[in-house]
Amino acid sequence: MDREERLSASKRARACVQAISPYVPGKPAEEVAREYGISDVLKLASNENPLGPSPRAVEALRDSLAELHVYPDGSGYRLKRAIAEHYGVHPGQITLGNGSNDVLELVARAYLEPGVNAVFSEHAFAVYALATQAAGADAKVVPARPADDPVMPFGADCAAMSEAIDERTRVVFLANPNNPTGTWVEAAELRELLDAVPEDVIVVLDEAYTEYVEDPSFPDGVELFAHYPNLVVTRTFSKIFGLAALRVGFAVSAQTIASLLDRVRHPFNVNALALRAAEAALEDAAFITESRTVNREGLEQWQAAAHERGWQTVPSRANFITVRTSFGAGRVFEQMLREGVIVRPLGGQEARGGLSTALRITIGTREQNERAIASLERALDRLRAEDERDD
Ligand SMILES: *Cc1c(COP(=O)(O)O)cnc(C)c1O
Repeated sequence: MDREERLSASKRARACVQAISPYVPGKPAEEVAREYGISDVLKLASNENPLGPSPRAVEALRDSLAELHVYPDGSGYRLKRAIAEHYGVHPGQITLGNGSNDVLELVARAYLEPGVNAVFSEHAFAVYALATQAAGADAKVVPARPADDPVMPFGADCAAMSEAIDERTRVVFLANPNNPTGTWVEAAELRELLDAVPEDVIVVLDEAYTEYVEDPSFPDGVELFAHYPNLVVTRTFSKIFGLAALRVGFAVSAQTIASLLDRVRHPFNVNALALRAAEAALEDAAFITESRTVNREGLEQWQAAAHERGWQTVPSRANFITVRTSFGAGRVFEQMLREGVIVRPLGGQEARGGLSTALRITIGTREQNERAIASLERALDRLRAEDERDD
């Protein structure tokens, strides 16, 4: 036993923390490049914007470099005002976060503790389980719609979620569209859920991908929250705005909730560069429109390719597509890695109930998608040959 293992301090950590299985980020491109000797690694594993950052955000960043010695504005005054104006809400209804991940954790910190629970769907965004567990609360994971569901295979079952709420429930988490499935809930379903949730239970509606959805009937949390005082809508600058590296997101909620979240955040939770860049990106309408168009075309490209090849996909309205294969997801992932294409195999909790063979692949540019489709096709061919040899 080495000294580290003998260190009893690690055993003194809260049991709920020791039980956490950590979030697994996408494999870094540099690591793959070195390991496999590939110069042009293609990473489609973290739902990043293939067009890069908003150019207006980059310009704003250049201007802020001379101010790196100054603490950020801890109140986020300018960005909050810009968001308020953009979305037609009051600045006091906004909570800024170090990524929307931070905002999700603020909700957990403010509302969850041992003895209470959070309700979310099977295949939901991994952070809900992590934040719930870190707060020492219980996760009530509601079975998703089945693989052969005619409406939304692997999607959240809103009716079952509202039935799962009990007197110990403090928070309901729902991503729309969801990651890692891409599935979504329609307006009527969402309203039924919101109507069924008791007023003293927080509903976190995570809209990280909502800007990609072009259907005008798609529910808009920012419009809905005026009717539901217990609704917390989260948005991010990491996806369509292309600012994942900077870590900035926000929540829109009733002011009373915003003021509670404000008490548990770090005083300077959003850095100065992120504040400036987000403000600029918000107004970069041309970039957002282009990102949305590239994504729609890419999704169509993937769906057509999958259809031609008989690949099963999960319905998606996000900037990624989840493809189900007939091999363990890890094996397909390894095969594509050898060609320098990084995708995200589903694993752990999110893979249960029929998704252990699924890969989540970010929609890229036309050329990137072509390369990934061809690579996936070759990977599946190789695995088929490998298994036939073994038979
Ligand atoms: C990517 C993502 C987020 C955003 O994370 P950030 O911390 O804002 O980068 C939030 N929710 C879901 C479901 C996501 O997929």
